[in-house]
Amino acid sequence: MYTRRLFQSSHHQWAWRAAFWKHIWCRPQGAHRRTHSRSSNYRAVIFDMGGVLIPSPGRVATEWEVQNHVPSGTILKALIAGGENGPWMKFMRGAITVEDFLQEFRRLCSEMSKTSVPVDSFFSLLTCEQVAKPFPVMTEAITQIRAKGLQTAVLSNNFYLPNGKSFLPLDRKQFDVVVESCIEGVCKPDPRIYKLCLERLGVQPSESIFLDDLTPNLKAAASLGIHILKVNDPETAVKELETLLGFALRIVVPNTRPVRKTMEIPKDSLEKYLKDMLGSQTTGPLELFQFDHGQSNPTYYIRLANHQLVLRKKPPGKLLPSAHAVEREFRIMKALANAGVPVPKVLDLCEDSSIIGTPFYLMEYCPGLIYKDPSLPGLEPSQRQAIYTAMNSVLCKIHSVDIKAVGLENYGKQGDYISRQVQTWIKQYRASETSTNPAMERLIEWLPLHIPEEQKTTVVHGDFRLDNLIFHPEKTEVLAVLDWELSTLGDPLVDVAFSCLAHYLPSDFPILRGLSDCDLTQLGIPTAEEYFRMYCLHMGLPPIENWNFYMAFSFFRVAAILQGVYKRSLTGQASSATAKQSGKVIEFTSNLAWDFAVKEGFRIFKKMPATKLLKRSYHTWASPQCLLNATGMRSYISFPDTSRANASKGALVISPEGLSQPVREQYCRLKRFMEQHVYPAEWELQRHQASVKRWTPSPLLEDLKEKAKAEGLWNLFLPLEIDPEKKYGAGLTNVEYAHLCELMGMSPYAPEIFNCSAPDTGNMELLVRYGTEEQKARWLMPLLEGKTRSCFAMTEPQVASSDATNIESSIREENGLYVINGHKWWISGGHGEVLFDHVRVPKENMVLGPGRGFEIAQGRLGPGRIHHCMRLIGCSERALALMKARVKSRVAFGKPLVEQGTLLADIAQSRVEIEQARLLVLKAAHLMDVAGNKAAALDIAMIKMVAPSMAYRVIDRAIQAFGAAGLSSDYPLAQFSAGARALRFADGPDEVHRAAVAKMELKHCP
Ligand SMILES: Cc1cc2nc3c(=O)[nH]c(=O)nc-3n(C[C@H](O)[C@H](O)[C@H](O)COP(=O)(O)OP(=O)(O)OC[C@H]3O[C@@H](n4cnc5c(N)ncnc54)[C@H](O)[C@@H]3O)c2cc1C
Repeated sequence: MYTRRLFQSSHHQWAWRAAFWKHIWCRPQGAHRRTHSRSSNYRAVIFDMGGVLIPSPGRVATEWEVQNHVPSGTILKALIAGGENGPWMKFMRGAITVEDFLQEFRRLCSEMSKTSVPVDSFFSLLTCEQVAKPFPVMTEAITQIRAKGLQTAVLSNNFYLPNGKSFLPLDRKQFDVVVESCIEGVCKPDPRIYKLCLERLGVQPSESIFLDDLTPNLKAAASLGIHILKVNDPETAVKELETLLGFALRIVVPNTRPVRKTMEIPKDSLEKYLKDMLGSQTTGPLELFQFDHGQSNPTYYIRLANHQLVLRKKPPGKLLPSAHAVEREFRIMKALANAGVPVPKVLDLCEDSSIIGTPFYLMEYCPGLIYKDPSLPGLEPSQRQAIYTAMNSVLCKIHSVDIKAVGLENYGKQGDYISRQVQTWIKQYRASETSTNPAMERLIEWLPLHIPEEQKTTVVHGDFRLDNLIFHPEKTEVLAVLDWELSTLGDPLVDVAFSCLAHYLPSDFPILRGLSDCDLTQLGIPTAEEYFRMYCLHMGLPPIENWNFYMAFSFFRVAAILQGVYKRSLTGQASSATAKQSGKVIEFTSNLAWDFAVKEGFRIFKKMPATKLLKRSYHTWASPQCLLNATGMRSYISFPDTSRANASKGALVISPEGLSQPVREQYCRLKRFMEQHVYPAEWELQRHQASVKRWTPSPLLEDLKEKAKAEGLWNLFLPLEIDPEKKYGAGLTNVEYAHLCELMGMSPYAPEIFNCSAPDTGNMELLVRYGTEEQKARWLMPLLEGKTRSCFAMTEPQVASSDATNIESSIREENGLYVINGHKWWISGGHGEVLFDHVRVPKENMVLGPGRGFEIAQGRLGPGRIHHCMRLIGCSERALALMKARVKSRVAFGKPLVEQGTLLADIAQSRVEIEQARLLVLKAAHLMDVAGNKAAALDIAMIKMVAPSMAYRVIDRAIQAFGAAGLSSDYPLAQFSAGARALRFADGPDEVHRAAVAKMELKHCP
């Protein structure tokens, strides 16, 4: 049953071919030798056309007669009527025109059948494209005959068409000679036309074989000494011709083709080598085909006597020492065969380049099925299930090999496999990078930070896919695992993930057909998750949680490989359309990799232990210690001295108590500094701001900056991910910084004192990420040292600048400089209005490159942009603290204000809103830490929407409780209020953030 279905499926022609192959080549050697000895006599094969290469007029007529109710046999009789002088033969000799022929032929047919016969319609049918199609089996045979160096000819009784050309629906290039009766004026079986053909071929009659479907034509040829072959049906005729010629006329080895010119190998020396290796009884010519699917090591099929072999060699030319190591392939296959893994039997490794130009190895040819389409068309669901199960279990077999027992313990480095792989592919990618790919950039940062902690070491195939397996033609059994080029020792899960690539690719994906748009349940194919679970079950492993990491890495690797291919194609002749297409494929694959990284980020996030989430012990804030001091500053509690020195980087810490010991110490130092130096200086700093000296730096502020620097409370903002070596900043994660930033938000002057104020923070981050060394020295270092300030000039008075695409300022190149023209206002660092009038900027000042601003904007999607939100939490806390102190001490209508129910409600409302906003801020910061800025986009937009209006409401309630004092400059509330109000559009209007949140929300609609 199963076998029959396989054979019925056109996709599984291979099964049929494999069977045929066996039939042809497993016959006794004697028979093979005999046919071979005859083959050397022939130099040409001559084909009749109608009935041999294309359907015969007689056959076409039979069907036509049935359809047109013409008595059966009429046409055939009319064709031969009159012999040499009948209309058909005259027409064949080109003696009469089509019109004359049709007139005479019509009369003849009508006389014979005693009815009117529409011969024009028969003639149209005979010569129409659909009917006059060459038989594929013949076309294939002709290709093979010519590939063997024999000549081919058409010798046809033929006629002219109404357009004056002869009727020849063949590819002329397939024939050395074409002889047509209508052109020569002579018809078969006239011996002259055969002689003419032989003459043009330059061969003797005995050196040629003639194929025709008509006996008189064959007899005439035979009488001249030509070998003849009667064609009843093309398939049988080709088989007989194979016997006569002594070589195969059909490509019977699946996935092979004649060897490409550029891939030819010296056959004579190879033949000699093989005969020496296989023994003296090995006779016969060497047949060579090339396997056609994309391995980087050229692979050949060899037939020699009754041996079927596969030769795999290094590509020619200069190679990297580790690349294309056929020796390694030979070694691993040999070792694995001993361990019971199904691999082709390797026979010999030849490292002597003098034989065929490069080292090579030989293995036995393993006939079977290779499923190129992972959806397995033409099979039953249960068969598909069985095939994927067999694939899974053979992978388990590979991963269960005892590497020591089979002598493979030094086949690769042991341990740390993924780190090494990640670095290798980053390097490869960088070496072939042609433009900046944002997803790849994010992955290059993300992957090294998320290397799985636990990795086993086993044999790793490195390219384990369905189409690298040979299956038994009739059973769902893997006969051999192929292509060990990338094999090594490493983490087996990489193989499992790699074998699921197709699951996530669409079916029209150009390089590897995918399954993502198929209904896997209906097809009977296990989903990636089921496949993975099946693997764990076979291996006796617990479920693998970080599956998305492995998928992210696998697609990253694919994207890096494709980038290499793309770069190489650019040096060749690839068209711009092809290049564009390849670019899209790389982008698609890298985005897919990033999607998995995001999923992994969410998984890590969700896995955060609940106990940690509950750790923030706000209740301590109600303790006497946390009462406000006289100035209304929040005494930000002292923490119990828990020693959590090793709290992991990248954890979601919702309370400062949960910070790692060094960061907690930093937090306490910052808090102390705020209390000792910043709050007391506020009044003085505010006076300076209101004075005429406001445009010169305040000496007090400069002094505080030096103090902060001396205490190491400096540049705390630079996220660990972009400055892992802490070269420029404190190396805090976004979550850690959020807690410290909240403290700084309690005073409007604090951020500048600690060199953490906007827009310097964002600008410094940008220079760290994208600046050249020169740019860093010139702009970044003075900023880091607090010796200079920077600005951000985007907004323009004449256009709605909340939509950055409205911006009208221009930049153009002129005489080796950039020239800027534009009108800007609200420029940070004083919020000035500036006219840029032909401002000339040296070209080397451009960061990253012209037109790459968007990339920069994408790259710095995160940290700098949420510092406002972190600070707003602190600002709200301080407003609430001031409010609480005020309402306790202020008496109205005979009792403290705090006893008014509305004020209690206001306090409660403010506390709740601050807590909600803080959690969202921390969640966004945490996502940025674990999944990257892009993955946190929704949360970033949400907090930008939430934080300014929350702060504005909390501050407003505090002002209300203070009465007129709230608006005076004796308290910071009015200043806070203006700041929070401005941030409802200064960092993008609320509406724009709301629109972004809604859009993302709707995107996830089922
Ligand atoms: C204190 C402060 C500091 C600033 N700092 C800087 C700085 O350093 N550098 C800089 O370049 N600029 C700065 N700005 C300017 C600020 O970035 C812009 O005001 C802001 O981008 C809005 O642009 P706009 O004023 O042109 O308003 P418009 O674009 O004209 O928008 C006006 C209003 O229209 C509404 N709106 C806009 N888009 C939408 C929408 N999609 N849906 C619904 N409603 C919408 C909003 O209510 C918005 O407030 C600052 C502004 C302030 C107040």
